[in-house]
Amino acid sequence: MNCLLCGHDKVHKHGKTEKGHQRYKCPHCGQTFPEHFDTLYYGRHLSLDEVHTILQSHVEGSSLRGVSRISGRAYGTVASLVRAASQKAQMLHNQGVKQIEAEEISGDEMWSFIGKKQKNCQPEELMAGDCWIWLSLASDSGLILAARVGKRTDALLEELLVSTEGKTDCDIWNTDGWRGYERVLPETIHHQVGKRRTQRLDRTNGILRQQTGRWHRLQNKFGKVWEQTKVTARLVVSYFNWIWENSRSGTTAAQRARLTEWIWTWDDLVAYPTVF
Ligand SMILES: [Zn+2]
Repeated sequence: MNCLLCGHDKVHKHGKTEKGHQRYKCPHCGQTFPEHFDTLYYGRHLSLDEVHTILQSHVEGSSLRGVSRISGRAYGTVASLVRAASQKAQMLHNQGVKQIEAEEISGDEMWSFIGKKQKNCQPEELMAGDCWIWLSLASDSGLILAARVGKRTDALLEELLVSTEGKTDCDIWNTDGWRGYERVLPETIHHQVGKRRTQRLDRTNGILRQQTGRWHRLQNKFGKVWEQTKVTARLVVSYFNWIWENSRSGTTAAQRARLTEWIWTWDDLVAYPTVF
């Protein structure tokens, strides 16, 4: 085991915590830490199985209330775990997904609406009505490079473009041809319309769509839903990149993109170190 504080490659057992968890001491930096330090188990009384059930059900489309029922855990416990896992997921994405070699990038968007149709919304109602999830994917590995949640505007597409540029040098974009791309993509990008490879996207979309499918049944608290959608989207992106195994190839997108050699589990995600 490595020191979770300085990275030194050997630590010693150092008694137990008040709650009976193993404590370790690092001979290099002299600090002590409990076994679950900097994981999502720390301070939460959830087993690996419970964490797995909660996160897996949520990324497969169960609402937080649904997950609370499935797991028998309080709504607040579930919401807190999902939020913390989403932060880990975003950190993993920021640090783990970079310098991606891709032949082409596929831009894709999914539409849903929150609460009511856009045509029934007042102009100032920015948290209700149309809600889009935008993705850019490396078309050879299927790795999600960037994702954005919001209204279908040039500004949002611009954000997607900038995030994607930080992940790869690839300058060939395949899209469905929405004119926004023509306005936003710079001249240095080679833009191909209608040639995106849809198979991989469809699968990703299928599961994301289960998420979005329930939004329009909601009658109020649109702003909260909107915020939760972003939290969920971050978790779903890392799930699809690192954990979800393509049944045909038996690999994850992160493996195909040569970011890792193994198929990650929820345990890898919740223990992803954030300290250094
Ligand atoms: Zn240390």
